[in-house]
Amino acid sequence: MELLWRDVGPGHQQPALTGPAGYDVREGVWLRESGRCLRCGRPLGEPRSPSWSCHHRQLRSQGGSDGPENRAALCGSGTTGCHGWAHHNRADAAGWVVPSHGDPARVPVLSWDRGLILLDGEFCWSIWTGEDDQ
Ligand SMILES: [Zn+2]
Repeated sequence: MELLWRDVGPGHQQPALTGPAGYDVREGVWLRESGRCLRCGRPLGEPRSPSWSCHHRQLRSQGGSDGPENRAALCGSGTTGCHGWAHHNRADAAGWVVPSHGDPARVPVLSWDRGLILLDGEFCWSIWTGEDDQ
């Protein structure tokens, strides 16, 4: 898998991943976030480093999928770092914990460097405009 940049408008680019079917979601999420925690910006080390974990925004117990739109690279584990924070502050963790009736692709998360962004199923992100495009 490799990280490419695609033009999405005048002066704007966003990462796009290409690779064979059967890609590694964890690696793809790591690349999407340029190897940094999506919430605090801390460098995460190698894609397989134990210093971070691949959060399910809509918890698996709530029917959440393994797709990229539902995943976020967060420092720490389910009990430490930003990953632990998300699980311990579900009520306040807007965007980081999506309720079972929500659609992770339509719920923005507050990134450390880009403000509110939407994540999609192709390892891309876009700035949230606040508009419902349904
Ligand atoms: Zn973090």
